[in-house]
Amino acid sequence: MSNIILLGPPGAGKGTQARLLTEGRGMEQLSTGDMLRAARTSGTEMGKKVAAVMDRGELVTDEIVIGLIAERLRDGSTGGFIFDGFPRTLAQADALGELLKRSGTDLDAVIEIRVDDKALEDRITGRFTCGNCGEVYHDRTKPTDKAGICDACGSTDLRRRPDDTAEALRTRMLAYYRDTSPLIGYYYHAGDLFVVDGLAEIPKVAASIAAILDQAGSS
Ligand code: AMP
Repeated sequence: MSNIILLGPPGAGKGTQARLLTEGRGMEQLSTGDMLRAARTSGTEMGKKVAAVMDRGELVTDEIVIGLIAERLRDGSTGGFIFDGFPRTLAQADALGELLKRSGTDLDAVIEIRVDDKALEDRITGRFTCGNCGEVYHDRTKPTDKAGICDACGSTDLRRRPDDTAEALRTRMLAYYRDTSPLIGYYYHAGDLFVVDGLAEIPKVAASIAAILDQAGSS
């Protein structure tokens, strides 16, 4: 069992790789972005509070996301957790360390998915997902076989995120470099950091991550 963080800017492929790990290794994906979007869809008070902040591409408060993660960690996981989009600030990283310690576990690896900024705008502004099964598509590089229908589950509920615009992306990138990228140094210092090339093809990135997990699991 491993607990890992996938770290990288928007569009690096964290969600895609997390889904593959969930399917292949029975790990559990904890995406604070997905949790916040679910809160918005179900119309909770918290969901309403964060909606405008998310659409602008800014970070929601540490208190809210730490609360979401704490709740999910309470029940533990047999296959290990993949933290996707969390932590995004040093305060969140400290809180995660404490929460894991309290539940008697630890982090096994922090995987930085490194990409070239120029690739991100194209990846982000072209992407859409299936609202039913979560499959991720891209207008140019991975369109659906039949227009408007998910290849994986047949649903017609294909969605674009309101923050996947060029303008919101600029704010999200700024938040990444200002608040999140210091975590690279933080985890490097802790000896937990591994780097993979996020510009490689999806199966190659997955293979690099698998090799890191096998190494972390056997050490
Ligand atoms: P994501 O799906 O990870 O790109 O997250 C979408 C949006 O949700 C972000 O742009 C933030 O507004 C918010 N969000 C997700 N995770 C966090 C986090 N760990 N800390 C603060 N804001 C977050």
